Amino acid sequence: MVTGIEIGRRDRLFLLTGAGVSAESGLPTFRDNGGLWNGYRVEEVATPGAWTEDAEKVWRFYSMRRRDALKCQPNSAHYALAELERELGERFFLCTQNVDPLHERAGSKRLLHMHGELFRSRCEADCGLPDFFDDKLYESAAEIPRCECGGRIRPHIVWFGEIPFEMDRIYSELDRCTMLAVIGSSGTVYPAAGFVDQARRSGARTVYIGPERPLNAAIFNDVVLGKAGEVLPGLFRIPKAG
Ligand code: NAD
Ligand code: ZN
Repeated sequence: MVTGIEIGRRDRLFLLTGAGVSAESGLPTFRDNGGLWNGYRVEEVATPGAWTEDAEKVWRFYSMRRRDALKCQPNSAHYALAELERELGERFFLCTQNVDPLHERAGSKRLLHMHGELFRSRCEADCGLPDFFDDKLYESAAEIPRCECGGRIRPHIVWFGEIPFEMDRIYSELDRCTMLAVIGSSGTVYPAAGFVDQARRSGARTVYIGPERPLNAAIFNDVVLGKAGEVLPGLFRIPKAG
């Protein structure tokens, strides 16, 4: 059983978080709800095809998720990771599959949202308009704003079938990390589920943290079973210099 993981002076830590890290904040994971996400099937609302067919339904879904996320607070797992970053500085890198803003609200800065962000939007056309902060709710087709180019404004979310953001940066961080910890990710959504392979190929020690074994559990050096908010505070030990 793993009770503490020591981070040495030369270690670089790569963290990957999934929906499980926000579960104790009250945000439902997808799989824990029998394939439904707040009553919606993912393919109905989180694919480019869904956007083409029914943009209003897509925006109603993301508006609901914006509303839900505003009611939630970061939990002790988010805070533990922010604290770890303060201790490790540039030897720390956090990649999240989550689109909620709970890591940054807990104080994380060296953070990459590979699947986009709930509170950002962009133009559906590739017109050069940068993505922007947006906390508005769009409940009907008429409310969906238009870009100057005529395109509709869409959520800044990576839908199933789209390519996650900043993969070059992610793979370069994976290549140079000496430790990888995955927290609350079921190991089913690629490419994130393959990060552990990549890190092991570069010789990193790998650990999974969550209440059940993920699909790719066999690839990890260690699996720590438990809720992120209970396990993470105090799991990593950083010996004081001197
Ligand atoms: P996932 O693949 O990240 O699976 C959720 C995992 O979290 C499961 O393995 C479950 O055992 C684990 N878990 C549940 N409670 C936990 C806890 N207290 N501590 C630690 N782990 C816990 O995500 P998914 O739900 O299978 O969804 C697939 C995709 O949708 C991913 O990209 C995911 O991040 C995204 N998603 C994002 C959010 C969000 O932004 N908050 C919510 C739902 C889904
Ligand atoms: Zn545009």
